[in-house]
Amino acid sequence: MKVIANWKMHGLKDDFLLWHKNLSETADENLFDDLGIAPPFTLLDECKTYQSKIKIGAQNISHLAEGPFTGEISAAMIKNIGADFVILGHSERRELHAEREDIIKSKLLEALNHNIHPVLCVGESKELYDAKKTEDFLYSQLYGSLNDLNNIKLSIAYEPIWAIGTGHVAKSFEINKIHATIKEICSREFDVQLENIIYGGSVNDQNSKEIFEQEHVDGALIGGASLDGYSFGRIANNFFDIHNR
Ligand code: PEP
Repeated sequence: MKVIANWKMHGLKDDFLLWHKNLSETADENLFDDLGIAPPFTLLDECKTYQSKIKIGAQNISHLAEGPFTGEISAAMIKNIGADFVILGHSERRELHAEREDIIKSKLLEALNHNIHPVLCVGESKELYDAKKTEDFLYSQLYGSLNDLNNIKLSIAYEPIWAIGTGHVAKSFEINKIHATIKEICSREFDVQLENIIYGGSVNDQNSKEIFEQEHVDGALIGGASLDGYSFGRIANNFFDIHNR
């Protein structure tokens, strides 16, 4: 999937039905294969039962397989419900839950062991961006999660922390340059098949076209603007106008 809705901690029972209806009124359902939604865990089953072509993913999994870990949800559990992908290492989890690279790497392995496609999030803070240390920092994040892994297939979401939920989208040419760098680091340093590299951080229906036009941008991870089915549909249309039609 290339255009992914990250609902974060939003959404109650039946919200997916209205969202899907509004999205279907806006975007062509034949193209839904390229879309993904990561609702809260509580809605995964509802999304899956609906049998849309949209891929379904979780926003997190445990780094452990099974056991006395109160409140945790395992890779096997989300696979059992039919999840296709999982978002890993989102900056909100890194910050609020102190997720370190070794934990994220274990989560990546859990996902891969259960045949769940990982979408690994990386991105720098404003301080690092201002200090022009973005590339070094991204390298360290990628190294921490991917070093020593063999022949793994994943997607990467480049999400500068300062762009998430702030309305300050990164400049398109900078996104493109950083995506190219990430691709280059992955092919030079790690044994990975990078399926897609997508951008996240204040993407909306107004700015998405210019972002999708960039050579090294394969899609987007969208938070706030994905909660409304019409808005997500307009972003999807901007993507399909450039990539599929
Ligand atoms: C995100 O949290 O993954 C994200 C991109 O959020 P937003 O679109 O709201 O900036």
